[in-house]
Amino acid sequence: MSKAVATTCPYCGVGCGVLARADAAGTVSVEGDPSHASNFGRLCVKGAALGETTDLHGRLLHPQVREADGSFHRVGWDAALDRVADGFRRAVEQHGPDAVAFYVSGQLLTEDYYVVNKLAKGYLGTANIDTNSRLCMSSAVAAHKRAFGEDLVPACYEDLAQAELVVLVGSNTAWCHPVAFQRIAQAKEAGAKLVVIDPRFTATCESADLHLPIKPGTDVWLFNGLLAFLFRHGVMDVGFVDAHTDGMNAALAVASAEAGDPEAVARMCGVQPADLLAFYRLFARHERVVSLFSQGVNQSTSGTDKANSLINCHLLSGRIGKPGAGPFSITGQPNAMGGREVGGMANMLAAHMDLHEPTHRQIVQAFWASPHIAAEPGLKAVALFDAVLEGRVKALWIMGTNPVVSLPDADRVRQALQACELVVCSDIVERTDTSVHAHVRLPALGWGEKNGTVTSSERRISRQRPFLPAPGEARADWRIVCEVAKRLGFAEAFDYAGPHEIFVEHARLTAFRNHESGADGGTAARRHLHLGGLAALDAPGYDALAPVQWPVREDGSGTARLFEDGRYAHADGRARFVATPGRAPAHAPDREYPLLLNTGRIRDQWHTMTRTGKSPRLAGHLSEPFVDMHPHDALRSGVREGELARVVSRWGTMVARVRHGGGIQAGQVFVPIHWNDQFASDARVGALVSPEIDPVSGQPEFKHTPVQVEPFPVRWHGFAFGRRQLPTAGLSYWALIRGEQFWRYEIAHRERPGDCGTWARAWLDAAAAAEWLEYEDADAGIYRAALVREDRLEACVFLSPRPDLPSRQWLAQLFGKPRLEDADRAGLLAGESPDAGGDPGPVVCACFGVGRNTICTSIREKSLDTPAGVTAALRAGGNCGSCIPEIRRLIAEAHAWSAA
Ligand code: SF4
Repeated sequence: MSKAVATTCPYCGVGCGVLARADAAGTVSVEGDPSHASNFGRLCVKGAALGETTDLHGRLLHPQVREADGSFHRVGWDAALDRVADGFRRAVEQHGPDAVAFYVSGQLLTEDYYVVNKLAKGYLGTANIDTNSRLCMSSAVAAHKRAFGEDLVPACYEDLAQAELVVLVGSNTAWCHPVAFQRIAQAKEAGAKLVVIDPRFTATCESADLHLPIKPGTDVWLFNGLLAFLFRHGVMDVGFVDAHTDGMNAALAVASAEAGDPEAVARMCGVQPADLLAFYRLFARHERVVSLFSQGVNQSTSGTDKANSLINCHLLSGRIGKPGAGPFSITGQPNAMGGREVGGMANMLAAHMDLHEPTHRQIVQAFWASPHIAAEPGLKAVALFDAVLEGRVKALWIMGTNPVVSLPDADRVRQALQACELVVCSDIVERTDTSVHAHVRLPALGWGEKNGTVTSSERRISRQRPFLPAPGEARADWRIVCEVAKRLGFAEAFDYAGPHEIFVEHARLTAFRNHESGADGGTAARRHLHLGGLAALDAPGYDALAPVQWPVREDGSGTARLFEDGRYAHADGRARFVATPGRAPAHAPDREYPLLLNTGRIRDQWHTMTRTGKSPRLAGHLSEPFVDMHPHDALRSGVREGELARVVSRWGTMVARVRHGGGIQAGQVFVPIHWNDQFASDARVGALVSPEIDPVSGQPEFKHTPVQVEPFPVRWHGFAFGRRQLPTAGLSYWALIRGEQFWRYEIAHRERPGDCGTWARAWLDAAAAAEWLEYEDADAGIYRAALVREDRLEACVFLSPRPDLPSRQWLAQLFGKPRLEDADRAGLLAGESPDAGGDPGPVVCACFGVGRNTICTSIREKSLDTPAGVTAALRAGGNCGSCIPEIRRLIAEAHAWSAA
């Protein structure tokens, strides 16, 4: 095993430090880095499973170009890069610079982000470069800029531990940012209060002192109400407001007019007046309040106003720039903040400068000595793909993201790619829903192979270091961009020896900018983002760079918390209150689409599953696409739990399994964002989502699309396991799950096979010489078959007219057995484990692979009444802790059951 390499988790914005090792065979093991201040050695289950995701199955290893028949063939790098450069050059020459565009990703490293922005804005002369971060936190960015004058996150993780009150707004932190949530749990143990504001009762709410299940889209009224309440009750830091802010009266006037009466606010928000007042009083009573907000705030047509209404409350009460206090935007993506630092969105310039400011444009162009500088903001994500569809963008380069899955109105995005003259995809995965439409595929380096920096939600820059060799012909994204830039005639400006030279150029630009703005006497371009202390790093210094929070002083020391001096980035140094009139979401439910679709993440998957979908342990918790809905709505919609349903909006449809128990209120449904055409037959929720956007930030409204749910009638349900992948063509429904030594398929079809045995043998490719176990009850419509080769289970299939099929966990265990026993064969035919206690049940604790049945049995037999007791008995919940809310619920259910 090699020496441990200190690197950073590539998933969420918590930015946990990871110690990674690879052995000679390429097997990777990881552990949390105890010295990294983001996590102090902790990892959630996604981070802990990183070693299971680095194999080369499905990797794009060589450049490819698409033939007229849709097939791809391998080409050399030179041919691929020439094709990209020629296409981009031709589009610019014939149609102008805005005929080309880039759609990049919060997965990119800061160095990748920097060079692609430099190429687009400084050398091609277009700002048509946007990123999937637009879908994640662009409303928070816009709110920061309005309030603080710059995209600045004031607080840090340490503030979570020091807070007396943590308010989580639109954030299922226990699932989506589990390591940050552990700090909140520790603060709670030390006496802090936790309020969760979320339409759903999520796993996070299990730990809350108070949950406000607000009506979706009413956050602005809630926080306007809080602002008016604080003012009315004298909870105002007069000295701070007078000395350091501007605009209070206008904001208060709107808040008082619209939300001065808590009873009316409670009605508007759909919460109990007593609960609303309890929250307002908690906020008023505690000096140290952190309000952590995420996609539930941002992904809205009023996302920017929501964030500003929240920030207003912190400004009025002076709960900002102090230990344990501040508004805190936590990002979904690993490097959303790093991308923002280098201008990774269509309305930004590098080093936190703005495209619409002539001074800023001059500074950046002078620093780059570039022939152009984009003169005005480019197209934001949704508008960018509209322009592709309408033929205004002729050449599009997509890097490390999957917009056919993740953008709203995603079928339209697919049409756009089909209509585009040149689509280039740089990715680590060969086949994605997006890359099937590419004309050129470029193999990029992935986590463990690439080398650069990322910035976490608390402004902490950390290194991602390589510990694996580059596979096939894959190259770093920054290098691919530079190769194309050279072919376009910009060799000198893109001649970097390595990522350290790019990083240092970025750091120098942050220092150059402040120097230039100071030199001309102006303050418009002065920014808090300052990496002066890193601007002279040499290659060894960059390699050894320890995690540090910007601004980074000249001596190399970082800054934990911003605004402690009360100075903000607006030219007058004052923060701004922003008047935020309430505004209803773009589309209300109606008779045709009576339910509100909310979308989001689940605990153990990440984005479009291209990486987490490889990990068997991450597949165990929630294995299939689902629509979580209230039982009353299910009844009204004619669907039942466990059955399949079609979810339909004005923009598209999808199919998923109906589920209850996700804490959803009547009138709403929740669908996870992860599934796509590589993992399920028809489960891209992006196809349903309304393309309406926030008018300030351009962020789409992922949390509020009217839909209807209807039955998806099938004649039979089933599942199959195989040691190799099985064909899915012709099945009405399928979902693919990767196991330790098998692929599992959940399947359903409109027509039952005429002869199940013939169909199953053909599907599982059962050779005549193999052992074939088969059971059929034709009257009941039940069929089971297993293919055994040399006493090992090779494949099996179970069919039934009903969806309640035997346990998959027991069958999965059989694939680990070197030899099937007679009892196992009997169990396969009987459709149940021969061992009464042999079925662990669905996975609850993915870290230690502990199932629900095992936990429930232990709770019952050992009279366990706390999660800590379950951890002591089974280890479940003893690592990342993100299953503790579920364990707590199982304990409560067991006790309620025994009491009954
Ligand atoms: S919380 Fe989990 S997913 Fe997020 S950075 Fe840490 S280990 Fe990675």
